[in-house]
Amino acid sequence: MKYYILFGPPGAGKGTQATYMVEKYNLHHISTGALLRKEIAAGTELGILAKSLIEKGCLVPDEVVEGMIESEFKTVTGVKGFLLDGFPRTLPQAEALDKILAKTGTEVTATVSIMIPDEMIMERIKGRALKEGRADDASEEIINTRITTYHDQTEPLIEYYIKAGKYNEIDGTGTIEEVKDRIFSVMDKF
Ligand code: AMP
Repeated sequence: MKYYILFGPPGAGKGTQATYMVEKYNLHHISTGALLRKEIAAGTELGILAKSLIEKGCLVPDEVVEGMIESEFKTVTGVKGFLLDGFPRTLPQAEALDKILAKTGTEVTATVSIMIPDEMIMERIKGRALKEGRADDASEEIINTRITTYHDQTEPLIEYYIKAGKYNEIDGTGTIEEVKDRIFSVMDKF
């Protein structure tokens, strides 16, 4: 079983590219953001907790997303691997992931990081807001909080995966097709 991490700032195109990657490599896509939005829509206790945090642009507690990931690993079968999108987002989450995988004698296969400059993050998210209507895409203030959260809490993971020899960065600027081709040429190595 392969475990790929799709990494990058908000608006880098992770969701879009994930749809191509899961199809080509027979992977199960786990987007913690999408799972949380499902909980919100269903009005669960977890959804109620997540809603206020997500709408402020803050992260939900590590244990919440770690639990979601572990339960997906246990329940989904019939695929060649998993594509983690939006997880891990903090160092404790990355360490928890390593521990979860170690329980079954596995490890992260590779990290594919889609990089775009900060100026492009705002532009891309505003474009997505018109199509998807996500509450956390709605205002510049919330988007700025998410960018700051990314730099403060998520970016340190780059160093973590470089040290582990599992970091692969690709240029996320250009067309969807161009970015897809760059990703595939990295993924083909694993
Ligand atoms: P996303 O769809 O990946 O942009 O996630 C939307 C929001 O869900 C984020 O801004 C966070 O509030 C929350 N979220 C998603 N994944 C995580 C995670 N791994 N850790 C903490 N919060 C998360």
